[in-house]
Amino acid sequence: MTDTIDQRIAAIGERIRKAAGRAGRAPEQVQLVAVTKTVAADRIVPAIEAGISHLGENYIQEAMNKIDALSGRPVSWHFIGHLQSNKARFAVRYFDLIHSVDGEKLARELNRQAAKINKVQRILLQVNISDEATKSGVSADKTLELVRTVSRFENLAIEGLMTMPPFFDAPERVRPFFRALHGIRERIASAGIPGVSIKELSMGMTGDFETAVEEGATMVRIGTALFGERSQ
Ligand SMILES: *Cc1c(COP(=O)(O)O)cnc(C)c1O
Repeated sequence: MTDTIDQRIAAIGERIRKAAGRAGRAPEQVQLVAVTKTVAADRIVPAIEAGISHLGENYIQEAMNKIDALSGRPVSWHFIGHLQSNKARFAVRYFDLIHSVDGEKLARELNRQAAKINKVQRILLQVNISDEATKSGVSADKTLELVRTVSRFENLAIEGLMTMPPFFDAPERVRPFFRALHGIRERIASAGIPGVSIKELSMGMTGDFETAVEEGATMVRIGTALFGERSQ
């Protein structure tokens, strides 16, 4: 990439603004989460200085090192990768928002660990919207039930839903999946579960974030378009 990080952030911001405009939405409703997996701390600093304030990481060990190295920076850390229950203890200590809660077992353990440090952990539920065997996440038809269960955990706050649709070259082919996630959020809202008001939809990556914004995304998770291709 020959352009600067400032230019890339500006270009993505412009694309988000246009996509929001096409859907009659305010661009401020869309939070850019910069995905920094495999990106070293010294390459993250210029992004923060250029205005990035939300960072997404996939692996606990890698993330802890970077979060420690960047401590004191005014940023919010998001965990977006697959989380094993035995890492829940670290996740609640290091992350402001966990996007990838995919079942009751993990939720229960996060609740237990958050209670130990007197934290109310903000979470999203990851929905396996395309029901692929290889993807984690709760199935669409079990999501409402999981929301009900998790809503009783005092040290968790469910703020929304996240999904990773199947990878297609054509963003139009993922549109139905984004739309479906939006629909699930509406169904949960109309169920009127006490203490639950979910508003976040974490969906859209480098290849499809404009479609996601058109379909109601409130968080887009973007790595490649900001930091270039990952080597592994
Ligand atoms: C890597 C990753 C992203 C970012 O993907 P890009 O295509 O590089 O923008 C977003 N979400 C999750 C869950 C990821 O693992």
